[in-house]
This record gives sequence, structure tokens and C-alpha cells, in this order.
Amino acid sequence: MPTTAVNNRTNLLGKTEAQLRDYFVSLGEKPFRAKQVLKWIHQAGISDFAAMTDLSVALREKLANVAEISAPDIVSQRDSKDGTRKWVLRVSGGSCVETVYIPEADRGTLCVSSQVGCSLDCSFCATGKQGFMRDLGAAEIIGQLWLAKHSFNTYDASRELADGEHGKITNVVMMGMGEPLLNFDNVVSAMNLMMDDNAHGLSKRRVTLSTSGVVPMLDKLSEASDCALAVSLHAPNDELRNELVPINKKYPIAMLMDSAQRYMDAVGGNKRVITIEYTLIDQVNDSLQLAQQLAQLLKNVPCKINLIPFNPFPLSDYRRPSNNRIHAFQRVLREAGHIAHIRTTRGEDIDAACGQLAGEVLDRTRRSERYRQAQGNSEGAGPAGAATAEPHIFARG
Ligand code: SF4
Repeated sequence: MPTTAVNNRTNLLGKTEAQLRDYFVSLGEKPFRAKQVLKWIHQAGISDFAAMTDLSVALREKLANVAEISAPDIVSQRDSKDGTRKWVLRVSGGSCVETVYIPEADRGTLCVSSQVGCSLDCSFCATGKQGFMRDLGAAEIIGQLWLAKHSFNTYDASRELADGEHGKITNVVMMGMGEPLLNFDNVVSAMNLMMDDNAHGLSKRRVTLSTSGVVPMLDKLSEASDCALAVSLHAPNDELRNELVPINKKYPIAMLMDSAQRYMDAVGGNKRVITIEYTLIDQVNDSLQLAQQLAQLLKNVPCKINLIPFNPFPLSDYRRPSNNRIHAFQRVLREAGHIAHIRTTRGEDIDAACGQLAGEVLDRTRRSERYRQAQGNSEGAGPAGAATAEPHIFARG
């Protein structure tokens, strides 16, 4: 397995077809080489230029001297009894991020991280507590899909998945660590590769970007991508959302929903819907009154609502609501005519459920240090270094 880049070679893994064309022209080569190399990298999973047999030997040797195909290092891989698989990946600089594969009856979803940590500090999310280090590069983002396919051996065309065997990746959700719209260019490049027929070829309905509401960048998204959209809402009014999702103070709900609607109008007209993510926190945002407010807020928004029972993490005062409260909240939404699903927890036994992801963020903001110190001082806060990281929520794509 290739390792993280430590030399001056150009890493081709995160380059889109257009970027590869420019690269080959800069080498004095024909631009059509881009499509050939793209297919080798993303459709065949090849990292050795010598194996790219439709390139001349001279070009293969040239590429081996100046370029490489390099993904993050896998630190660990764990399988849940429910088929969920979680990888801890070390990225350059030494921090770790996580990627999770979630199999369901009719799909296999890969949840991908976009940043090392997150600067937005949502109150229910332990990723925010870990602080922020840096954006992931496009190669580190698409590399998560590339590594997952290698891990399941799905690049081997001769290998057929046995009945009931997991491993086919049909959906990708940008809902791991980080706010994807704050790493716009790299996320867009990686999603471009996910959806490019010469690369991973996933449908635009099966690649989802989830945002907590960076409105100026959401307004730009339709110029660069037509992926599916999820909004991390978590509250139906600004007063409560300001507490849970602080970026709401800058871009309040009305502004966010208008922007989301503009995006949907631009990319797909009336056939596509926004996924609304709503983490249910006991006695905080799970009352029937708030369910009614949410139903009203979304009355004219083409959407489906994912209700995600909160997964507690150390030092959080929040609790998961009772099943009765969760179902009562769902009932209000359904009676108002909304599509509302309760997300079942997956991968809990390998700490891969929502709220259980544990990255290892070398934090520039020092927030993670304060958090770990508080953890150490807190009775029953859990083992040192086991801070859990709530990602954006895995949507049912
Ligand atoms: S929920 Fe998303 S935006 Fe908020 S802190 Fe966590 S990773 Fe960042």
C-alpha cells in the first residue's frame, strides 16, 4: 500500500481530469494521457506507473521519476459485528482522521472526512472539542475512497462479492470530521473524482455534501458541483440553533434555508430533495413544540428529515432521549406530511457510530489540549486520548 508523500514528486491521486491534462501538457505530453491515467488510478486502483500498460515505457519511466500516487497511511482498521468498518488514517503532519463504511440492505455508504478537526465547535460535537489543525488535501479526501476500495478488494474485477458480503460502495457522504464547505476547492475536486465516469462514476444523487451552514460557500457550490445536499440543522429556531451550531449567529436559519433552496433550484429542479439532519438531544431540542416548529419551518421545503439520537461523549452534559420521546418527535413530523426517519446506530462496538469517531488532532487552536485536560480532571471521563469526535451526521443518502 502506498504511503504518505515524503518527497518532491507530484501526487496525482487528487487531481481531476482537467488538472491531469494540464499536468501532462506541462510535462510536454499529450493531454489525452489524463484520461488513461485517471482510469488506471481510480478504476483499477493502480499506484505503480509500471503497470499502466497503455502508456509508453518512456512515459512510465518519466512518471516514476516525477510523480506518485499516494494515499494516507492506514493506522488501524476495525470491523463491527453489524458490518460497519472503520479506518484510522494518518495524514501528513501526523494527525489522524477517520473514515467509516456503513453497509445497509440496498447500499454501502462511505463517510469521508474533509478536515483535521473542525473550527466550528458545535456544542453536541466532539470533533469541535478537538480543535482544528488543517484542511485535508484533495488526495487525502479521495484517498479515503481509494483505500476503502482496496480494503474491500473491490478493485479486483475478477472478485465477485459473495451473497451477503459487504464491501460495495454505492454512496459517499462528506459527513466525517470537518466542515466541507470550509475546504471548498479540495472537497469539490475530490467529489468531482467521485462522480467522474472516468474515475469512480458515482451518481450525483449518491455523493452528498453535508454543511452546518457556511452560506457564502453554499451559494458558490452550484457553480462547481451538482452533488446531493444535506443541512445539519438540529434546531428549528435561531435562539436554540445559536447555542447548538454557533455559525448560525453569522448565517441564521432563514438565510441558510434560502441558500439551500437556491442550490437545489440550480442543480436539479423539483426532483431532488435536501436531507435535513437533526440530532435529538434529551430535553434540549426534542420537545413536541419544537417538532411542530420544525414541521412548520420545513413546510414548503422539498426534504427528508433524518432524526439522529445523540450519542454521548465524555464531558458532554447532553443525553440521548428516550425511545418514546424520539418516536413522538417523529410522529409530529410525519403527521405534518414530512418524510422523517430515525437513524439506527451502527458500528457502536467499534466506536464508529455518530458521536464515537476518534480522530487524533494535532491542534493549532489548543482547544483539544484544554478539552483533554478537562477530560483528565473529570471523574469517569474515559481513558486519556479517547476523546470522541462527532462528525457531521451520516445521512441515509
Ligand atoms: S458538527 Fe460538523 S461543523 Fe459542527 S463542529 Fe462537528 S464537524 Fe464541525
